[in-house]
Amino acid sequence: MRWEDLTGDQFPEAVKQAEEVCLLPLSCLERHGHHLPIGTDVFIGRELCRRTANLEPAVIFPDYFFTQILEARHVPGTVGIEPELIIRLLENTCREIARNGLKKIVIINAHGGNDNLIHYFAQIQLASRRDYVVYIPQPAYQAEEPSTAAQWETVIDDHAGERETSMILALRPELVRSESLPADNEGVPLERLKPLRDLDTYVGIWWYADHPTHYCGDGHPATAQKGEVWFADRSRALAKAVRAIKDDKEAGRLQDEFFDRIK
Ligand SMILES: [Zn+2]
Repeated sequence: MRWEDLTGDQFPEAVKQAEEVCLLPLSCLERHGHHLPIGTDVFIGRELCRRTANLEPAVIFPDYFFTQILEARHVPGTVGIEPELIIRLLENTCREIARNGLKKIVIINAHGGNDNLIHYFAQIQLASRRDYVVYIPQPAYQAEEPSTAAQWETVIDDHAGERETSMILALRPELVRSESLPADNEGVPLERLKPLRDLDTYVGIWWYADHPTHYCGDGHPATAQKGEVWFADRSRALAKAVRAIKDDKEAGRLQDEFFDRIK
């Protein structure tokens, strides 16, 4: 059930059917190498939510791409929002989702650069009392089913590599410019901060240091079939998490108890 497809009259019934769960697909507008569209993560987030909600009914919030992508502002097409506004906008969005009756907000993140943001966002849910809970299911990052994991041919595979290229081949093949895939080693990390990275020392410029053209991996072995398998695998894992979230009564109760104890 897509939020924007519902009429106002249908909305309350959809909330009931969804057992108050809203899937919030986070993505961004970011360069994906030479061959994939800027909206790659938007398409992936949308599809993950669609498939997950087919298995475990939920209301799906519209594409949400005003997130953390400052590291791509040196390349065309990026929309990088101010950090404070990212947080306020996400907070306001969740508040409005909850005001409409969807008290379990499930962030489905399709953009790797949001990892720190979403976990920080979950932590700051404890800043003030609220009548909803924000959940971040980890299956998006966890081990794939063995048959899914076995299909990949590349070792380095991250941004616009074999997986993401397969996903877009499955969803929007007409947007993939396979002829623009680099023939050189552009997808191999430059490791310009290797001495620090070897010591697990984090610095904000690390992604730019490794991947200034926003390409990591090799899109050549990608196929639509592999993308199809990946989406089916991930949506099964996410649907399991959504089922557990629907059954959960403890997170909200503990949140209330916590705020009751704060004087
Ligand atoms: Zn991506």
